Amino acid sequence: MSISSDTIRNMFLNFFLKKNHHIFPGSPLISNNDSSLLFTNAGMNQFKDIFLGKKKSQYSKITTVQQCLRTGGKHNDLNNVGFNSRHHTFFEMLGNFSFNGYFKEEAISYAWELLTSPNYFNLPKDKLWITTYAGDQQTYNIWKKKINIPSNKLIQISDKKNKKYESDNFWQMSSTGPCGPSTEIFFDKGSHLQGFPPGGDYSTGDRFIEIWNLVFIQFNRINKNNLIPLPKVLIDTGMGLERIVSVIQKVDSAYETDLFLFLIRKILDISKINSFNNSSIRIIADHVRSSVFIISNGIVPSNERQGYVLRRILRRAIRHGNKIGIKDLFFYKLASFFIEKTKENNVLLSEKKDFIIKVIKKEEQQFSYVLEKGLLLLKQKFNRIKNNTLDGESLFSMYDTYGFPIDLVEDICKENNFKIDLIKFNNLMDQQKNRARKNNNFFQLNNLKLQSKISSLFQGYVNTKIKSEIKEIFVN
Ligand code: ATP
Ligand code: MG
Ligand code: MG
Ligand code: MG
Repeated sequence: MSISSDTIRNMFLNFFLKKNHHIFPGSPLISNNDSSLLFTNAGMNQFKDIFLGKKKSQYSKITTVQQCLRTGGKHNDLNNVGFNSRHHTFFEMLGNFSFNGYFKEEAISYAWELLTSPNYFNLPKDKLWITTYAGDQQTYNIWKKKINIPSNKLIQISDKKNKKYESDNFWQMSSTGPCGPSTEIFFDKGSHLQGFPPGGDYSTGDRFIEIWNLVFIQFNRINKNNLIPLPKVLIDTGMGLERIVSVIQKVDSAYETDLFLFLIRKILDISKINSFNNSSIRIIADHVRSSVFIISNGIVPSNERQGYVLRRILRRAIRHGNKIGIKDLFFYKLASFFIEKTKENNVLLSEKKDFIIKVIKKEEQQFSYVLEKGLLLLKQKFNRIKNNTLDGESLFSMYDTYGFPIDLVEDICKENNFKIDLIKFNNLMDQQKNRARKNNNFFQLNNLKLQSKISSLFQGYVNTKIKSEIKEIFVN
């Protein structure tokens, strides 16, 4: 029998407890004291002030399980969800942290021991690949000489922004402040899956998956060219629970692990699909998890900030339900099923179940009411489409009249190999904004401004001005 995800989570915490770490609770998904971040997206978020030297930690070594959401800003994985087996909107990050306690050698040795020791995860060593930062010879030498990683599985990633690399292995919180090199640990899931080794085109397949990222914060960046050593060095690591569970349970995707399987089976039951690998099934399963956790933090669907992220997630899931032939309201029932099934682990969800279900049901009823009509209209528009591009007016009416978030329309267009005219859409948004301004309707004005920025987030060819504005809202 394979090891359960609960056991794996506990093994992680207990391993670091044995290495004298303090087990510390994860922070809420929505930060109370960091308005620059819509959602917690990494284990280190709650320690930001310690990293910045503004606060002292009571403990020098800490281990946590952190609930994360990556739907915007620097970490926007929303568009990948469903189309690969490793990116989720909501996931749990297992982490160990050291504040001037230990550094590279110990952090690497701990990670290696936990992953490969027969007493712990017992992974085959020859399936593990490592990337380091090209400027960090120290880390390279530890992997090479101490851990004995063969050269062909030890890849140095250079600073150059090569599009092929998803990461340049140098971490920084922002343009100045604490920063340092990182090293990533990958697992090779086997040649029956597609994909290139790290350092190649990692984004194309699920064969090599990044499981753990260790960050060595040792510098303070004064400006673009100047780094000075920090008096106190820090360790920040993160391992995706869903990913390590898929490796240990020896399945190709996280959706086949015990974290998702019961939910996937239920969705298959109520749909006309019988394939595991169907992207709609995966998107719905993923979005059940993210939406219930978001709502459990008191967020309800709205047109701004976290509420708009939630609305987009819910509407996207509902549309995918429709796509796979589910006729009745279904999403709130799945949410209820998920909360019931996981109540032992998620007491908070269970306590807020009635509220969560009520919120989802209301949004589902509202959107389902216009969805069919909207989809029909869109189909008619597709029949008359010119230049393979859906025009701005149509986009605007889908958004304005039918409540289709722009990324949702874009999704449907992509499925039909059409592009969207976002420039014209933004233009129409601006005009509506001006009308609102003239009417002195500040509330409407602010909403529109925000929505147009958020909606721009998902299209491929945003200009730099919009991009920098988006950054302002989604500084993650
Ligand atoms: P990737 O390159 O695969 O997008 P990342 O380098 O962006 O991952 P980190 O910021 O290093 O991820 O996060 C630490 C760990 O969290 C990763 O090594 C991975 O195991 C896990 N992780 C990151 N993003 C996701 C996600 N969207 N869903 C599930 N797990 C994730
Ligand atoms: Mg990423
Ligand atoms: Mg990465
Ligand atoms: Mg990483």
